[in-house]
Amino acid sequence: MSFKNFGLDSRVLEGIESMGYENPTPVQEQTIPIILEGKDIIVSAQTGTGKTAAFLLPVLSKIITDPHEELIKAMVVVPTRELAIQINQHMEGLSYFTSVSSIAVYGGGDGSLYAREKQALTSGIDVAICTPGRLIAHLNMGYMNLAGLKYFILDEADRMLDMGFNDDIIKILSFLPKKRQSLLFSATFPKKIRELARQMLVNPAEINISLSKPPEKIAQLAYVVYDNQKIPLIKDILQHKNLKSVLIFCSTKISAKQLSRELKTSGFAIMDIHSDLDQKNREEVLTDFKNRKLNILVATDILSRGIDIDDIELVVNFDVPHDGEDYIHRIGRTARAESNGEAITLITDKDQYKFLKIEKLLDSTVPKGQVPEYLGAAPAYDPKARSDQKFNHFRKGKPSSKTRNKKPFHKPRKK
Ligand code: AMP
Repeated sequence: MSFKNFGLDSRVLEGIESMGYENPTPVQEQTIPIILEGKDIIVSAQTGTGKTAAFLLPVLSKIITDPHEELIKAMVVVPTRELAIQINQHMEGLSYFTSVSSIAVYGGGDGSLYAREKQALTSGIDVAICTPGRLIAHLNMGYMNLAGLKYFILDEADRMLDMGFNDDIIKILSFLPKKRQSLLFSATFPKKIRELARQMLVNPAEINISLSKPPEKIAQLAYVVYDNQKIPLIKDILQHKNLKSVLIFCSTKISAKQLSRELKTSGFAIMDIHSDLDQKNREEVLTDFKNRKLNILVATDILSRGIDIDDIELVVNFDVPHDGEDYIHRIGRTARAESNGEAITLITDKDQYKFLKIEKLLDSTVPKGQVPEYLGAAPAYDPKARSDQKFNHFRKGKPSSKTRNKKPFHKPRKK
């Protein structure tokens, strides 16, 4: 299946290409045609499945192909500011080759942020991505014209209800035109969500995408560390375990090369594999690893999906993977078929929140190991505090709200 099969507008296809998406994910494959058809939909899909693009792409394409002058054509409501900002960035990337504009509308900030939001909401923004409280503050003032609103999306609805936003959602629904297309996304479908769906959707199609969980026979462990403790800790683990087959994942080529160099210097039989190696060299390294000429392989994500090497005893995430799905794919390299396996993840300060999100997706907490005393004191695992720090930093910087004068949040690929 290719994105071209959906009949999306060509400018949207360009956006998809510039984001580097090659093929639709399962949730995209199933939901995009239904949304393009104009039907309401309720989708069970977790973060990491590609659900954001599953609703942004068809809505974007429909806005382009059915232009009308009225303001605010689509509204996305999400539980947190962070998610509003993230979805808006996604939108800016996907809509880069179109004239569709979007803004993230979230609470907090000073009066000038509110004024800027008001300005955008009243003078030509196409898509508003909002947190409930802030949206209601704008709605109550009476200046938002929703007569042209055709698409309403509620994302992470279960989280929204967990956070006590039920009444807010009902209130928001009361402001919306009756004739609209509504899309509801939720990781789980408890009774309260079904009740909400009944009030919000008309004859919805139902899609259920369940993410695979890592096999139970993989023993998972994580260490919370400072950056400078990572390499010494890996050396310690490898020396003590004395394993025949270890796969270490790094997020970047630079960290893969550096780790490999350090471990080689300490006498380990190790090679690194990443996109700088040509296909022939990659195959040679992989063959040596399979034949156990090489005990340790350091890899970037090029190896995390698909490649079936049997009997890997230990997978190490030297860097926390991007999201839950990557985590599952990476650690799934061990414990193939009958064998048991181990997976160890190193978590530095900047990755604590990312790891918490992975644990949420797995619906379980990964046990944390004790860093050996001789490596010095290690940090505590306190991901929520770290996420607040990150967010405060973000808010002091430039908010991501944009109007028509957009810049891409990453550079589109050259044609
Ligand atoms: P989401 O589940 O929407 O949070 O998306 C998870 C990640 O997958 C995001 O980093 C997206 O940019 C990425 N993504 C979404 N769709 C695709 C696709 N078709 N191919 C590759 N990556 C994708």
